[in-house]
Amino acid sequence: MVMCMNRNLKIIICWLFLLTCTGTGTLCLFAENPLQRLVEGNERYMHSTTSYAKDWDIKRSSLIQKQTPFAVIVCCSDSRVPPEIIFDQSLGDLFVIRIAGNVVDDFALGSIEYALSVLNAPLIMVLGHAKCGAVEAALTGAKFDNHIQNIVRAIEPAVKSVKDEPADERLEKAIKANVRNVIAQIKSAQPTIAPLVLKNSVHIVGGYYKLDSGRVELIN
Ligand SMILES: [Zn+2]
Repeated sequence: MVMCMNRNLKIIICWLFLLTCTGTGTLCLFAENPLQRLVEGNERYMHSTTSYAKDWDIKRSSLIQKQTPFAVIVCCSDSRVPPEIIFDQSLGDLFVIRIAGNVVDDFALGSIEYALSVLNAPLIMVLGHAKCGAVEAALTGAKFDNHIQNIVRAIEPAVKSVKDEPADERLEKAIKANVRNVIAQIKSAQPTIAPLVLKNSVHIVGGYYKLDSGRVELIN
């Protein structure tokens, strides 16, 4: 079963890159490896064969002068979804933006702009996760009289898009719709990110983390 799922994941990845490489000729040179690193790291994490958490002093020393993260991860603040652990990556590998519900605001977009234009990160993953409390709050129409309401409001378009789906599928579909909406928001962000996307200088993908298996599925 696991092997079958792995094979399916690889087929999806191949398909994804065949699609994105068509007509560009340049994207594959730097975009394929970063995503592979995430996928392979997630496999190690799932099978408890993680490779990091050693030689921290050497790693710290190597990063004092500069950082060169290979991916930006936009994910939820949920304590069960720490990107460095679930992708088995080390210090300096991931540039992480965490906000409940993996939504983005001006500060988050500014952070992404820095990662792309100054640090030259070639990949962005927007990562949703199963049983996301922020999306669930938006789905149930919960009202808050504090800043939480701003997060719920940002997720409402995703919730509206799944209102006709079966009740037992609505949460997962809303979480994935929210990831797609955030990807669209990032891709269209002016003046820095949108031109980089148009030039294929950065590749953006969506992910969905499963709390039970630990697997990150790519969202098409
Ligand atoms: Zn969440």
